[in-house]
Amino acid sequence: MAKSEHGKYIITKPRKEVEIPAWAGNLSAERSTRMFYLDSDVIPGAFYVEVVWFWPTDQKDDSSPEPHSHDVDEVIGFFGTDPKDLNDLGAEIEFYIDGERNLMRESFLAFIPAGVKHCPLNILKITKPVFHFATIPRKNYG
Ligand SMILES: [Zn+2]
Repeated sequence: MAKSEHGKYIITKPRKEVEIPAWAGNLSAERSTRMFYLDSDVIPGAFYVEVVWFWPTDQKDDSSPEPHSHDVDEVIGFFGTDPKDLNDLGAEIEFYIDGERNLMRESFLAFIPAGVKHCPLNILKITKPVFHFATIPRKNYG
């Protein structure tokens, strides 16, 4: 990244080590790639944003966070990558919100209000790369 006055606000490399709570799941290196992880430790003042690629595989997904809630809102998204139909998730994801199962086959954004329990989030099937985005307007995940 070229040096500029505000270049310090731009990241172009994945964070090498990400420490997340034990209940928050564990991404598989074979099935996914954490593209970026931003929080206040990476750029002072930033809030939590995470983006992850999930790759097509027949392996069973066991990376889900346990059911949890936050004391602030969260936005979670999964996006299909078929340029002919970006609404097609290219995957089947079951996502529990307040104990209710939602079976997702379309690209989606989910707003999780503060205090609402969510997860597990299980990728049941994935046939195309899926892009994942999550953010919490707080300095660190948790
Ligand atoms: Zn959460």
